[in-house]
Amino acid sequence: MEKVIIIRYSEIHLKGKNRGYFERVFAVNIEKTLKGLRHETHRQSGRYLIENFDECETQTILERLKRVFGIHTYSIALKVDSEIDKIYAAAQEVCGSAGKFKVDTHRADKKFPLNSMQISAEIGGRLLNNNHTLSVDVRNPDFIVRIDVRENGTTLVFNEFLKGAGGMPVGTSGKGMLLISGGIDSPVAGHMIAKRGMNIDCIHFHSYPYTNMQARDKVIDLAGVLAKYTCGTKLCIVSVTHIQEEIHAKCNGDYMVTLLRRFMMRIAERVAAKCGAQCLITGESLGQVASQTVEGITSSNSVVEKLPVLRPLCGFDKDEIIERSREIGAYDISIQPYEDCCTVFLPKHPVIKPDLSDVLKEEAKLDVEKLICEAMDALEIIKL
Ligand code: ATP
Ligand code: MG
Repeated sequence: MEKVIIIRYSEIHLKGKNRGYFERVFAVNIEKTLKGLRHETHRQSGRYLIENFDECETQTILERLKRVFGIHTYSIALKVDSEIDKIYAAAQEVCGSAGKFKVDTHRADKKFPLNSMQISAEIGGRLLNNNHTLSVDVRNPDFIVRIDVRENGTTLVFNEFLKGAGGMPVGTSGKGMLLISGGIDSPVAGHMIAKRGMNIDCIHFHSYPYTNMQARDKVIDLAGVLAKYTCGTKLCIVSVTHIQEEIHAKCNGDYMVTLLRRFMMRIAERVAAKCGAQCLITGESLGQVASQTVEGITSSNSVVEKLPVLRPLCGFDKDEIIERSREIGAYDISIQPYEDCCTVFLPKHPVIKPDLSDVLKEEAKLDVEKLICEAMDALEIIKL
């Protein structure tokens, strides 16, 4: 009797002719996720089996699999030869010690001498005889003993379908460049897009020495959280200190955030081109703060030349975003109190609904191209 993990995939099966491609990416992602842990992965008609792992690493394997997009459900199961006595022994192991139960059998191997109803009746009967605190209730059981007689002479016995991360395998929907701050929103935005199968690279803007090195470490940690879902990521780090100083010196200070945002978007688009990313992703949520009014978004969006900008959180309330941030394991890092570059030179009265012509007038006081090139020259890339 061997402990195994059954993995069932989600939307992949909808993908018609592309199915083979989706499955290959999915399988590679599982291997990357389980790297360093002893195991074997076998494909078995529409599912994968993780076998031959060290049982004391079961929890670690499950924790990691929970983050693999494309997994619909998974189960911890016992694998035995398809012989009724061995199936019964496994059923005893997964059966609760008391309560109402039912046996649910699926028989793919039509050569097995009993049909699925007969297997359920036989195993259920033996379990009842052996333990008088059990009773059968097919309508409202406390637990279910599931038996899956496979074509290859083995049978899987298990209780539960555990919910996987859902979504599509990362890498099947291209690559995006996430503008990641140290806040709560942007990692959640990246997670949502990764769930749709997109590979994510990240870009972060800082204003060292106005912001400190701990703020930078925090972003590295946040990108690291995301990397666990995306089988790795690249974090591009860009200093905008010289840009902020220039805005501070030459422009109406009330436009600091508005102008800075336009620089961020321009630089992000150029870095995206370098990395082969096909869109920008931000954590903006409509009306959440001054820079996220539709006028603010219009101002920052209008400098993006080619790429679409995805804003998956646009319709989310802050408490919904916080809930997701907790779920993905980013929240405790995001709330560490280090300053973001947007709070440096923060004006008392930032423009809330910037008029684009006023923004352009302020921006005309700057040598935009030179400032962008300086930022690009000092680009640093960290692989996570
Ligand atoms: P977050 O919680 O993601 O910081 P926020 O609610 O603080 O978002 P803003 O500070 O207005 O909102 O930022 C909106 C979006 O702009 C962020 O979600 C992020 O995508 C991008 N952004 C803001 N600051 C930075 C930064 N320093 N580096 C990279 N991207 C940034
Ligand atoms: Mg922020």
